[in-house]
Amino acid sequence: MKVLLLGGTGEARELAGLLSGAGVDVVSSLAGRTTDARVPVGEVRVGGFGGAGGLAGWLREHSVDAVIDATHPFAANITANAFAATREIGTPLLVLRRLGWIAEPDDDWHWVETASAAAELLPELGKRAFLTIGRQGLDAFAGTGLWTLARCVDPPEPRPTWCTLILARGPFTLVDEETILRDHGIDVLVTKDSGGPATAAKLTAARRLGIPVILIRRPPLPAGVAVVETVAEVVQWVMRASHSPST
Ligand code: NAP
Repeated sequence: MKVLLLGGTGEARELAGLLSGAGVDVVSSLAGRTTDARVPVGEVRVGGFGGAGGLAGWLREHSVDAVIDATHPFAANITANAFAATREIGTPLLVLRRLGWIAEPDDDWHWVETASAAAELLPELGKRAFLTIGRQGLDAFAGTGLWTLARCVDPPEPRPTWCTLILARGPFTLVDEETILRDHGIDVLVTKDSGGPATAAKLTAARRLGIPVILIRRPPLPAGVAVVETVAEVVQWVMRASHSPST
């Protein structure tokens, strides 16, 4: 059985190892935007496909039996393309979406739909902001007038002059996060609802320091797409499919 694994996440790297180890022919796909990306084991291809049509062509050309979308919850374009392409050619698709974060009683969380809505709300909640939303969407915060610290894996191009940048890649510990919040006198945090443990420590740190958090909601998944929440469920799905008579 041949599987295309759309990646760029820790879960996708884990899946590449597990599925390859189980004898599945896996090709991992990375967008190729991050320098020094952590590369999964096994066969890897890098770069866009050229939209849904290009992806459908690639799937046909490489005789792919199933597609696993294990991309980040905010990578909505590739997910929409995977849905459209697999529908067009009748290839099974499974989306892995880790659970979003859930507030605890002491949390002061404010949910918004977009980065622009987060920027609009920000001045009501604090004066020194910490943005942990990656590079995309940073520009929306350029006009808040607040002192702003932004953390990204790679520097935005062009490099913004209106904020202080930290370049770092998770996972981050609670000590890391409390130190950043304290050292920079942060009084409001902005994050996307990425979910997962690798970047959750900032939420615990904010709770412990009594700092409000603005959370940007995930984009919706395509209606009717098959979705699971864990790596184990993906492995089960692939094993079932690989033993079915049609593959
Ligand atoms: P996106 O907006 O959904 O995708 C933009 C375009 O990049 C897609 O249309 C596709 O180009 C290409 N692409 C994206 N993921 C790809 C993949 N795994 N393999 C091949 N092409 C891919 O995605 P994004 O938000 O820029 O994220 C890019 C990658 O970074 C994703 O793989 C994602 O898992 C990872 N990532 C994203 C975030 C985030 O916050 N967005 C965080 C951590 C990791 P074509 O249309 O030309 O095929």
